[in-house]
Amino acid sequence: MKQLSDLARLPLGVYPTPLYKLENISARYGRNIWIKRDDLCGVALGGNKVRKLEFLLADAKAQGCDTVFTTGGAQSNHAMLTAACAARLGMRCILILKKRGVTDRRGNLILDEIYGADVRFMDTDSYDDIYAEMHRVAEELAVEGHTSYFIPCGGSNALGALGYAACVEEVTAQADALGVHFGHIVSATGSGGTTAGLLLGAKLFYPDAKVTGIGVDDDPFGEIVPALAAEAASLLDGTLERRADDFEMVFHLGDGYAIPNPEDTPYIEELARSEGILLDPVYTGKAWAGMLKLLQSGYFEGQEDILFVHTGGAAALFAMDLP
Ligand SMILES: *Cc1c(COP(=O)(O)O)cnc(C)c1O
Repeated sequence: MKQLSDLARLPLGVYPTPLYKLENISARYGRNIWIKRDDLCGVALGGNKVRKLEFLLADAKAQGCDTVFTTGGAQSNHAMLTAACAARLGMRCILILKKRGVTDRRGNLILDEIYGADVRFMDTDSYDDIYAEMHRVAEELAVEGHTSYFIPCGGSNALGALGYAACVEEVTAQADALGVHFGHIVSATGSGGTTAGLLLGAKLFYPDAKVTGIGVDDDPFGEIVPALAAEAASLLDGTLERRADDFEMVFHLGDGYAIPNPEDTPYIEELARSEGILLDPVYTGKAWAGMLKLLQSGYFEGQEDILFVHTGGAAALFAMDLP
């Protein structure tokens, strides 16, 4: 089996990101809860997409592409971080975003513009429509001699997922240095790549941790995540050897994807006021509140330490208020 270091990867983020214990939260909930600050990864306002882009954009460069296309909702963190990383690499970035959610010039749409992305909207609910449009635009650009690279929504393909396998390798070294052992790794699941990478990474580097994805969208992630993790393993010429109880999806969606949930607000405020950390209402706020509700319901049996992976998203706070 190949090592992650055998694959091309560009150093886009500042890693390792901090990992430390949330002292006030741990005291309050009677359980050791640690945080992996991937919101502090050194690009824009941080976020999980940068680890994926390290692999994806390395592939784009290796293929000689000068233009990168991606998509997401209007306030997509992934689209914004792709714009930021593409700009740094001297690549043109075309974002074809779903005309859904907050489409006026706020939050990530301001940042997309600062990073110089070509932002277009499509009034559709289907990413297939958007992928078709990307290919149509890319054909026009090809006539002018440009070569395009296509990144799916969320950067959640097998190559992107490897970014979060790499994250677990990083966590393993940090945990060893701190003398701590995590029984659980928890993060938001929005398109599945992060959780898939964490599952593969746990398999490779941290075999007795259980990965719990907190679903913030309603796709069938219970199947999507292990399938994507297996596909990511195959890029390393390996297979994903599952073990009972190594992964679970729990949904904490509220009224739907990107609809802030009033029940989460007290949890978001509690983390801000006790630890100084910002969560967003679309991903991390839901994942965090969902995790603490699980903790209170006895889901995390035993006393093993829990690691919450903070995946970023703060720009949403400037696009939508907490309900
Ligand atoms: C995209 C995103 C997620 C979800 O990650 P996926 O790999 O798409 O499941 C979580 N948090 C934030 C802030 C995100 O932008």
